[in-house]
Order: sequence, then structure tokens, then C-alpha cells
Amino acid sequence: MSQPAFQLAALTHLSDDERMFRDTVRSFASAEIAPLVRSMDEAQQMDERLLKQLFDLGLMGIEIPERYGGSEGSFFESILAVEEISSVDPAVGVLVDVQNTLCINALRRWANEEQKKRYLSRLAKDTIGAYALSEATSGSDAFALETRAVRQGENYVLNGQKLWITNAKEAGIFIVFATVDRSAGYKGITAFLVERGLPGFTLGRKEDKLGIRASSTCELIFRDCVVPGSQVLGEPGKGYKIAIETLNEGRIGIGAQMLGLAQGAWQHAVRWAKKRKQFGKSIVEFQAMQFQLAEMAMEIEAARLLVYNAARLKDAGEEFLKEAAMAKYFASQVAERVASLAVEVYGGSGFVKDYPVEKLYRDAKIGKIYEGTSFMQLATIAKLML
Ligand SMILES: Cc1cc2nc3c(=O)[nH]c(=O)nc-3n(C[C@H](O)[C@H](O)[C@H](O)COP(=O)(O)OP(=O)(O)OC[C@H]3O[C@@H](n4cnc5c(N)ncnc54)[C@H](O)[C@@H]3O)c2cc1C
Repeated sequence: MSQPAFQLAALTHLSDDERMFRDTVRSFASAEIAPLVRSMDEAQQMDERLLKQLFDLGLMGIEIPERYGGSEGSFFESILAVEEISSVDPAVGVLVDVQNTLCINALRRWANEEQKKRYLSRLAKDTIGAYALSEATSGSDAFALETRAVRQGENYVLNGQKLWITNAKEAGIFIVFATVDRSAGYKGITAFLVERGLPGFTLGRKEDKLGIRASSTCELIFRDCVVPGSQVLGEPGKGYKIAIETLNEGRIGIGAQMLGLAQGAWQHAVRWAKKRKQFGKSIVEFQAMQFQLAEMAMEIEAARLLVYNAARLKDAGEEFLKEAAMAKYFASQVAERVASLAVEVYGGSGFVKDYPVEKLYRDAKIGKIYEGTSFMQLATIAKLML
């Protein structure tokens, strides 16, 4: 009889290495990120020193093999890192998530040896990556994209605009999806490795957002941008496969971001409920408050099981598509609900910027939108099950 890929009872049980890794990220997040959260949110900017610390700790190259200077960790460790960081600041969480679960994953799987040597080593050391698929007219219908890549000898000439690109302001390497043949539909889509500063490639507007404000979200503009043919990632016409496969994994990362956010909001709520006194006692002594906090904790645990299950399936080489969609859908629901209740636990204090739950409530909204809206997750689940 074949052995299960992992023991069911071990889903949330961490190995010694995983626990040590999680605790390191947890201590780092509370010591180094927490003091910066409010100022970075207000400035709509990542702290430069923090970015360097993330690289120094190996958190920007978790799955990159050691021979390219990475930490050679597991996908599950990337998920733990995103969860822990997001419990303190989901804006930093998404920066780490896009780097690890989208950019590095795409390169590890699809880049040739020369590209791996050149780019994985930079991503592990000091370079941030961005993943550019969405456009003004193609969001959920991502493969309706209009950015064109026209072959000219050994090169491609890119023209078009990308929208909503996370990490764009800080990134040095962009994975850009364009079509080499619109008449071929999704089979014309090709992924290119585009470096910052390439002539014809500029950043457009930076979005002024509701939440995760320290995370940059920008427009990318390509005007007769000449990209050498050697910068094609994978093969021409295989971009749709790269996008589908990386987003399937990235989705678990967003689940982890939302899980961490919910956990962070819950911890703040508990701390406040123990401290805040009304009617002569701590508000945590009221049964209504206890029930609410218990329900929040239960939902967080359910989200954690879904997220960890999807991540462990992925590491075990098992099918994980349906589980990833469920994890992202459910964790983003839990995050929004828990953050909202955390604001209420704080009362009036939850509604002002002096306390962290107001920001977490704003940050939670994005979980239902990016890397596939909630309806798109339901569409995936239905397609795989019905
Ligand atoms: C902060 C932020 C960061 C982002 N980062 C990136 C990034 O790094 N890289 C990148 O490529 N993109 C990024 N995106 C884009 C993001 O992935 C898209 O916004 C998302 O996929 C939704 O696309 P849309 O905004 O065009 O919405 P639309 O696709 O227009 O959707 C609008 C509404 O219609 C619904 N809808 C659409 N089609 C269907 C259908 N078939 N059935 C039922 N309902 C449907 C949707 O669920 C949604 O409710 C980011 C977006 C934001 C806001």
C-alpha cells in the first residue's frame, strides 16, 4: 500500500527546522518590521534598510538553490515566512510573497541555466522581482492581454502597458507577459525577463491604495523596447503555461498573507480585550467577547489547515490546484472578517490610526482581489469538482 505524502496529524505540526525557521522570522518581524509599519504605511514606501535585512536573512531567496546563493528551503518555508511577516505587516508580506512564490518559482522552473545563473543569484543577493501580467483591459481574463512582442531578427520589440504591478518601484527584474501573435490567442503569450533601465521601458503611475500602502503598485510602459531573444523565459508561446503554473502556487502565498493578517489582528484583539476595562472589569471577562475571540481563533485555524495543506501537497509533488484555490478564497474571507471584528473589539480606538487593527482591516480587502478574485477561485474549484 502506498504511503501518504504526509501524516494528516502533522499538517500544522512543524518539524524542528520549520519551527526554528518560523521563530527566526517571527522574532525578526516583531523586532525589525513592527516599529516601521505605521511610518511605511503613511509614507507609502518600503524602508530601504528593511529591504536589505530581508535579503541578509535569506528571506528573498528561500527556494533558490545554494549554488546560486539562495537558502535552498522549501515552498512550505516560503509560506511560513509570508504568514509570519504578514501577521506584522501584510505590505511587506506581499513583497516577500511575489519575490518567492511568483518570480523565483517561475525562474526555477522555466529559466535556462544561463538565465538561472544571472538572475537567481541576483534575486538571492539584492534584487527584487516583479511579475507583470495584468493590463487595463485584461484582469480576470488575463490572457486577453494586449502588450505586443514583435520579432525583429534576434530581438523582440515590446509595446504596451501593464497595470497594477506589485514591487515595480523597487524591482530590478520584471517577468513580463506579452503576445507574439494575437491571432494565436493564449498560445501567443510569451514571458520575457526584462531588466530595469532597459531603453523603452519606464514606470508609469504609482497607485494610491486603500491598503498595503507600503507595497508599490505601478504601471509599466513599453515603447519600442528592444528585448534580446535570449531573455525569453521558457519558450515563445508558452507564457500562458508559466502564468497558470506560477499563479497556482502564488495563490497559496496570498492565502498565507491573509492567514498571517488574521492571526496578527486576533493577537492585537486579545491583548486589547485583556487590557481594556469597562463596567469594572476587563472586557475579555464578558462571555460575548470570549465567544467572539474563540470563533475568530477557530476560523484562523481552519484557514491555516487549508493553507498548510495546499503548501504541503505542493512540496510533496501532489495535485494542489483545488486546495490552493480553496485556501486563498477561505483565508481572504477569514482575514476580512477577523480584521473587522478586531476593529470592533478595540471600540472607537479600532477606528483610528493610533492602533494597528485599522490598517489590518484596510489591508485585508486586497486578498479577495489579486492573484485571482474570489469568483475566479470559485470558478477553479467548480471546474475541478463538477
Ligand atoms: C494592489 C494590487 C496589486 C496587484 N499586483 C499585481 C501584480 O503584481 N501583477 C499582476 O499581473 N497583476 C497584479 N494585480 C492585478 C490583479 O491580479 C487584478 O486586479 C485581478 O486579477 C482582478 O482583475 P481586474 O482588476 O481587472 O478585475 P476584473 O477582472 O475586471 O473583475 C471585476 C469583477 O468582475 C468579476 N468577474 C470577472 N470575470 C468574471 C467571471 N467570469 N465570472 C464571475 N465574475 C467575474 C470579478 O470577480 C470582480 O468581482 C494587482 C492588483 C492590485 C489591486
